[in-house]
Parts: sequence; C-alpha cells; structure tokens
Amino acid sequence: MSNNVVDYLQRLTLSELFKGMGVTGRYLFEPKITVQYPEEKTPLSHRFRGHHALRRYPNGEERCIACKLCEAVCPALAITIEAEPRADGSRRTTRYDVDMYKCIFCGFCEEACPVDAIVETSKFEYHGEIRGDLVMTKEKLLAIGDELEASIAANRALDAPYR
Ligand code: SF4
Ligand code: SF4
Repeated sequence: MSNNVVDYLQRLTLSELFKGMGVTGRYLFEPKITVQYPEEKTPLSHRFRGHHALRRYPNGEERCIACKLCEAVCPALAITIEAEPRADGSRRTTRYDVDMYKCIFCGFCEEACPVDAIVETSKFEYHGEIRGDLVMTKEKLLAIGDELEASIAANRALDAPYR
C-alpha cells in the first residue's frame, strides 16, 4: 500500500487520535506525580544549586579570604570582590556582590573556593521588587549563610566522600 493510502486510512479512522487517547486512559488511574506547589514540594538533591550564601566559621569569623578565585572562574562575571588587609594582617573582603541577574547557577564559584566560603544553598524561593534587589551584597549573603548554616553543613557533609 502506498504511503498516501496509509495516510488517508489513518485520517479516516482517526487511529492517531485513539492511540493518543489510549495513552491518556492508561495514566488516568496511575498514581499522580504532580504536586500542589507551594503547599507541596518535591525533594531536593543535597547538591541543588540555589541562592548563594557566604559562610562563617563556628567562632563567627568569615571564611572568605578574598582570594578572588570565585570571581575569576565565574563565566557570567556575576561576582565582584574588593578586598584589603585588616589590622591583624588577614585579608578580607570589603565588598562581595553576586549579581543574580547575571548568575547562571553553574556552581563554579563554590567548586573553586578553597575554604567553602561561597556556597549555593537549597533556597530557591526568592524575588526582587525593585531594581537592584537581586544584586546580593556581602551583608545579605552572610545573613543567608547564618540562617541556613545547619542545612548547608549537612549537605556538604553528605557530599564530602565525593570531593
Ligand atoms: S554559580 Fe556560576 S554564574 Fe553564578 S556566581 Fe557562581 S560561578 Fe558565577
Ligand atoms: S569566596 Fe572563596 S573563592 Fe571567593 S574570594 Fe572568598 S575564599 Fe576566595
């Protein structure tokens, strides 16, 4: 039978339509895999790359040593760092901005960081209301780090054998 005749018969008998309805019917009584977000949420991997945070050591000292590796490796040029030595000779940032409008959440910054200072957290629900809201300053990033430290540490511990 020529292709034209097969096409014609398929259209005439609506066979494609019934095939599609068969698939729909098969899943009608299967367990549902959709969730009612935001009341219900799906599980997140401990490697999920969400909103950034800057971490501190347990004594409250900032981890970041202003080496600028994260700034250098960022493919989106989303990180801006300024630094100067403190009175005790240690090097710390005076400015650490992550421009979330530019960030592509590749995770290179946290991979590059030698002291686990910049991390991407499981936080993914955030928004900005005015222009510039999503340029995250050092103060905002440290505050998120303080708020989420327990979950960040737990996720890093889960990943430790693979690093
Ligand atoms: S996740 Fe990637 S794009 Fe975003 S700040 Fe880090 S290195 Fe840059
Ligand atoms: S966050 Fe890490 S990689 Fe970036 S400047 Fe600080 S210590 Fe270096």
